[in-house]
Amino acid sequence: MYKNVVDFIQNIYKTEEFLPLHEPRFIGNEKKYVNETIDSTFVSSVGKFVTQFEEMVAEFSGAKYAVATSNGTSALHIGLQLVGVDEKSEVLTQPLTFIATANAISYCGAKPIFIDVDRDTLGLSPSKLKEFLEEETLINDKGECINKLTKKVIKACVPMHTFGHPCKIDEIVEVCDAYNIAVVEDSAESLGSYYKGKHTGTFGKVGVFSFNGNKIITTGGGGMLVTDDEELAKKAKHITTTAKVPHPYEYIHDEIGYNYRLTNLAAALGVAQMENLELFIQKQRELANKYELFFRDTELKFITEPKESQSNYWLNAVVMQDKQQRDEFLKFTNDKGVMTRSIWRLMNKLDMFKDAQTGNLDNAEWLEDRVVNISSSIII
Ligand SMILES: *Cc1c(COP(=O)(O)O)cnc(C)c1O
Repeated sequence: MYKNVVDFIQNIYKTEEFLPLHEPRFIGNEKKYVNETIDSTFVSSVGKFVTQFEEMVAEFSGAKYAVATSNGTSALHIGLQLVGVDEKSEVLTQPLTFIATANAISYCGAKPIFIDVDRDTLGLSPSKLKEFLEEETLINDKGECINKLTKKVIKACVPMHTFGHPCKIDEIVEVCDAYNIAVVEDSAESLGSYYKGKHTGTFGKVGVFSFNGNKIITTGGGGMLVTDDEELAKKAKHITTTAKVPHPYEYIHDEIGYNYRLTNLAAALGVAQMENLELFIQKQRELANKYELFFRDTELKFITEPKESQSNYWLNAVVMQDKQQRDEFLKFTNDKGVMTRSIWRLMNKLDMFKDAQTGNLDNAEWLEDRVVNISSSIII
């Protein structure tokens, strides 16, 4: 059976050479735009491509404002800081995520609390979230959500759209609204994914995209913060660009800022990639469709887009029957040069977060043992 999977994958990619999990594709104006920045010398923090890239991502996602950053993690850090997360706060998130989600919370000095995911979306579970908030918190007279155990304020919640599959984000926002908790959407993996017709990343107060080399489009490294809140967007631009006060020749900075800028060189790549995003999504979905049909006749379950959503199918994934089968499959496929990877080790099992508070994590633990990512580069 494992051999059938390897044969199938090598057959659709028409190669027996090493197959990475997700390779970028540069089939458009990438070289042209990048060369333009070199020819003009505007490769760094000034240039037209940054603004153009921001406008394209805002328009594509339907967000009012977009602020480009050096990577997705820095966008998450700033998003959390702007909704008021500090060293006195706590932040709810899922344990089944890439480390960046939990790291960004830590950069603010805040503590994460891990809440279970749903098995059908792989994302934060609104019912488990509600259960936790009802049992473990109360609202104080300032309207803040207080953790009964630690007496700290729960300021924000970071759901994540795993592998591009939207979580039940409208329900999550509704639950959080009732507790005055700001939602910062980690949509790093879900550019081009929609929930009930609305783009992921635009449900919360802030949304975040990543353009790392393995994502659906890339700038080499880069990120974007999106929001409908004008004030918040202005602040994000300000503190990601060293908080410099505009002045023709003097250097004046009015708060502690960050050098989280995206370079013009990287943005040039981003603009060219955005021009092909629709095509990339179509190709990702065609690939996923091939997998879905193939896995129907096997004992493995191919993960498909959840109800009422349209996924970018950025990373394809299958559910193994148990951990033993998972380990055998990982070994077999990687030995054959077909790269596969297990889903992330749960955040609460990592040294840095082993003392973090958690809800019941049955689904996350079940998935942790079974989910494997398979070849997901688009075929053009
Ligand atoms: C990729 C990713 C990020 C961070 O993006 P970088 O651009 O690599 O900093 C954050 N969260 C998730 C879930 C991701 O997959």
